[in-house]
Amino acid sequence: MLPLILTGLLATAPAAEPPAVPRHVVFVIADGMGLTQISAARARKGTPMFWETAEAVGLQSTWSTELVTDSAAGATAMACGIKTDNGRIGQAPDGTPCTTLMEEAITAGRGTGVVVTSRVTHATPASFLAHHPSRRDEPAIARQVLGVPVDVLIGGGRDMFPADKHALAIWRERKVTVFDGTANILAHDKTPLIGFTFEGSPPPAAQRGPTAPLALHALNLIDDDPQGAFLLVEASQVDWGGHANQAAWVMDEIDDLDDLLRAVVKAGGDDTLVVLTADHETGGLSLLGGSRTGGPVQTQFATDHHSAAYVPVYAWGPGAAAFTGVYDNTDLHAKLRAALGLGLGLGAR
Ligand SMILES: [Zn+2]
Repeated sequence: MLPLILTGLLATAPAAEPPAVPRHVVFVIADGMGLTQISAARARKGTPMFWETAEAVGLQSTWSTELVTDSAAGATAMACGIKTDNGRIGQAPDGTPCTTLMEEAITAGRGTGVVVTSRVTHATPASFLAHHPSRRDEPAIARQVLGVPVDVLIGGGRDMFPADKHALAIWRERKVTVFDGTANILAHDKTPLIGFTFEGSPPPAAQRGPTAPLALHALNLIDDDPQGAFLLVEASQVDWGGHANQAAWVMDEIDDLDDLLRAVVKAGGDDTLVVLTADHETGGLSLLGGSRTGGPVQTQFATDHHSAAYVPVYAWGPGAAAFTGVYDNTDLHAKLRAALGLGLGLGAR
């Protein structure tokens, strides 16, 4: 009888469900992306985009100690869970450094990575990796980033890093391999890896090539870690197109971002939480006309700076439901921290 009972039990057991706690977390910041930026890209394309498949959607406020944030304070809010002054990188208004999610993930032993379409020392990635009163001092930020033991760091901006003996000694001690150019980065499959896609600032999407392969490469390099992975991706140039008041640049960056999301969510599978949001909206963009079936769209910018609008949050995978609702950017930090198993006395699980 026993085998029969066991068979019966097995037959009624529920199908395996995705784990409630993600093994890996991918956090994607589209700098300057408000609802209109993605609406415009969707209208121009005329067919569904991947972001529409989100399993959970929320809204977050973006302010810093001022109503209109910059990218340094916006990223610091999400990295550390604190409000700070515009321009500050990973520190409180009084200059006290704050512990970032990336630093916590490194301490917890997770596989960690950063992939951006700006210089790696630019405000958003810098706020997860460094602590400085001014985002503008990128050479000083680079000197800090040199020594951060993140497993994979990919983006532009080699020109901000010193090439002196001291810097090379730090990389040698960390056993870091440094590669230049996307093809070389993609051909290398060991960590720790620093990959400079461009010597300075990467060009717009149309000239620099797709970001999805770089993000996938980074995820593949770190997701074997027994503690799980934490990957930060920034679609940096949605913001730059907004500052330039060039809607086509903005929409091209959203297209690049959408391809990246599709690739990462698919590759991540059932055990990976992917969260997409922005640090703020850029340009006060309006979508005023176009066709429902794709083609040119009419847009208008209200400013060449940031606006104070709430920004959307999209999530896929285990734990996605926690990102539903309306909350502050510092609350987003808490949600990510919980998803990473940090601050719960669990370490990295
Ligand atoms: Zn900006």
